[in-house]
Amino acid sequence: MLIVKQHLDNYLHLVVIATGHNIDMNQHFMAEALLLARQAAACDEVPVGAVVVCGGSIVGRGFNQPISRHDPSAHAEIMALRDAAARLGNYRLPGCSLYVTLEPCPMCVGAIFHARIERVVFGATDPKTGAAGSVVDLFAQTRLNHHCRVEGGVLAEECGLLLSSFFAARRARTALA
Ligand SMILES: [Zn+2]
Repeated sequence: MLIVKQHLDNYLHLVVIATGHNIDMNQHFMAEALLLARQAAACDEVPVGAVVVCGGSIVGRGFNQPISRHDPSAHAEIMALRDAAARLGNYRLPGCSLYVTLEPCPMCVGAIFHARIERVVFGATDPKTGAAGSVVDLFAQTRLNHHCRVEGGVLAEECGLLLSSFFAARRARTALA
């Protein structure tokens, strides 16, 4: 654990030197999730991306791909959890954080709890299916057996803009067709 912490401290130090200011780690990992969201958009899927972080390193990546995979559960969070669990050889991911560009839906919060994720950071809110306070707040349900910290609003503007421009382009294409 000390080695991991030292590695993280060194990394932060390098980032500070490279950028000239103290880059926020939440923003750093959310930017990685945004790159994955762009991959989803390139596949004509709703652009949502996610990463799982353990000890300061990304151990899982995923982007939304239910249409291309013919899989209603292939949300970015689930794909990132599967990737991390396979890499770490464990169906549970204690001590890990999950970063996702959009507020998770109830299905993904369920998977996050089953995976024993310690902390979730999301970007834009989702007024239609958000389960971190927008529609329901599953994170506030103390009767559920697992508790997980959650924070939203990290790079929310960038995350939301990617979604709204994707839907605007899709509407324009449909109108032309
Ligand atoms: Zn979901």
